[in-house]
Amino acid sequence: MRSPILDYLDTLIAETDHIVGGAPADYIPELAAADPDTVAVALCTVNGTVYASGDAEHHFSIQSMSKPFAYALAIEDHGLDGIREKIGVEPSGEAFNELSLDPETGRPRNPMINAGAIATHALIGSEHEPALGRVLDFFGRLTGREVQLDQAVADSELATADRNLGLAYLLHAAGQLAGDPQESVTGYIRQCAASVTVSDLALMAATLANGGIQPRTGERLLCRESTRQLLSVMATCGMYDAAGDWLTSVGIPAKSGVAGGIIGVLPGQVGVAVFSPRLDGHGNSVRGVEMMQRLSDDLGLHLMEAS
Ligand code: GLN
Repeated sequence: MRSPILDYLDTLIAETDHIVGGAPADYIPELAAADPDTVAVALCTVNGTVYASGDAEHHFSIQSMSKPFAYALAIEDHGLDGIREKIGVEPSGEAFNELSLDPETGRPRNPMINAGAIATHALIGSEHEPALGRVLDFFGRLTGREVQLDQAVADSELATADRNLGLAYLLHAAGQLAGDPQESVTGYIRQCAASVTVSDLALMAATLANGGIQPRTGERLLCRESTRQLLSVMATCGMYDAAGDWLTSVGIPAKSGVAGGIIGVLPGQVGVAVFSPRLDGHGNSVRGVEMMQRLSDDLGLHLMEAS
């Protein structure tokens, strides 16, 4: 029998069909070429059942949704105290590509903005094991399949990376970058170009909802403390300068990416993912935000609401 959850997700797609505001990111030329009407949604329970609707097989680049997972690897490597010394946990209130540094310590404000994510990427690499390989391997364990790079997206962003290179050089000058600026940005941009579907992302989000244990394989991929830390940072910083609006209205830890994806996590319950390429001024998917809002309202996901 067809699950009522699938019917619900189909309705969600149909009822948000009229939302055509915003535009695909254009500072990465390859993303500007995306079909703006592609749309997908997926939900994964903490026992690993995935429900998906819309263009569920469509692959797109993970972009900034990679950041919390790279941060998790950095916590595992350096410990919670170690990582807190290097990267802050305060929302910046500024756009994702600003050089938002703590004025006292000089640390990037948080790992969800580009400056913090480039610094994070540099922290998880070593001569023996480059950061990119580790991240892709981690994505493979999280999704249960081999995750590839979208080379066209990576090349396109690498050719227009002046701003991220600028951030990396300034971080380096301030003694806040563990690696070479050029190499760190190249690796970070490739990390962002990992190609995923909404079902992959829902499973990744469900692993976070499940306290770090991948619900299908049963493998512990993150310890409970790292999971708690990264979900907390997603809650306060994941939607950039729209984070306060998001937490009050949708009410779950989330992370967006400029290709048009958003993941959301309700701890102990469910991971959700949506995709639609048209973005608002904060770099968050317009239709994606609306789909998440409806999911939260219809399924009662808001964390601050007593059940
Ligand atoms: N790769 C993108 C960048 O660095 C990621 C930004 C995002 O998804 N918000 O600009």
